[in-house]
Amino acid sequence: MTEKEKCTLCPRNCSVDRNQNAGYCGELSTVRVTRAAPHFWEEPCISGNLGSGTVFFSGCNLRCVFCQNKSISLSKFGKEADIDSLAQLFIDLSKTGVHNINLVTPSHFTSQIAKAIEKAKLLGLDLPFVWNSSGYEKANALKSLDGLIDVYLPDFKYKSPYLSKRYSNAADYFDVATEAVDEMLKQVGKAVFKDGLMKKGVIVRHLVLPGCAEDSKAILRHLAKRYGDRIYISIMNQYTPIDHDLPDSLSRRTTEEEYISVLDYASMLGIRKGFIQEGDTAKESFIPAFDYTGLENLK
Ligand code: SF4
Repeated sequence: MTEKEKCTLCPRNCSVDRNQNAGYCGELSTVRVTRAAPHFWEEPCISGNLGSGTVFFSGCNLRCVFCQNKSISLSKFGKEADIDSLAQLFIDLSKTGVHNINLVTPSHFTSQIAKAIEKAKLLGLDLPFVWNSSGYEKANALKSLDGLIDVYLPDFKYKSPYLSKRYSNAADYFDVATEAVDEMLKQVGKAVFKDGLMKKGVIVRHLVLPGCAEDSKAILRHLAKRYGDRIYISIMNQYTPIDHDLPDSLSRRTTEEEYISVLDYASMLGIRKGFIQEGDTAKESFIPAFDYTGLENLK
């Protein structure tokens, strides 16, 4: 096996030949997708009025115990797409009128997706591409996306190695995600908007987990100190315990008190560029149906 065939794309460093075996992400080298359709529940500058063109990929290299999309993150299904058909999928999706092409959980297919974006652009696709990731990805891998991705939309899940190990089996999450966001910001710079839509920039998402408000505050301190107003921060409260086998600490929703205490802290830190969630957002109905919508042209 050559070095090239040993996958070390992400921090899991599985060193498997993905032509033969799946690694921690659960996926072989051929891209698999589960849904391609307009989505209206992203931040307003991403969804706009016409929706964000989400493409959901099978598998995930992080696999949080509380994942809201387990049916796809655990690689239970997906339709295969080679580079040409993935590029065509982006083009077909653009024809529905969406504002951008939003690549959801793409990190374990970085090189294939980069080639498909290049191809789609050559064929005339002229929409912004959004990289919607867990943040658990190598800065080096992200370098191959320089000039191809317009908006980075990474999660920033944990400060505490204890929590990141316990809930995502990734004690190094904080350092990895910090280097990833550094690289993202280096590539796209400060945000650019047109008609209320983000055309370029970084939005870091943070989901407040039950019992973890102090960790949320530590993350906000870190983001504010390191990036100031060069990034947007989206503070989310939509955590939903949808599994029966979750640890006790994750078996309830985040309380309003917890969420407000984090928002107050963000305000105290002077964070003004960002998004919050209002109302009853913690509902399973915000989780789209992974029923191959938009994939009719794939085998
Ligand atoms: S992309 Fe998948 S196979 Fe490659 S190192 Fe990461 S988890 Fe392992």
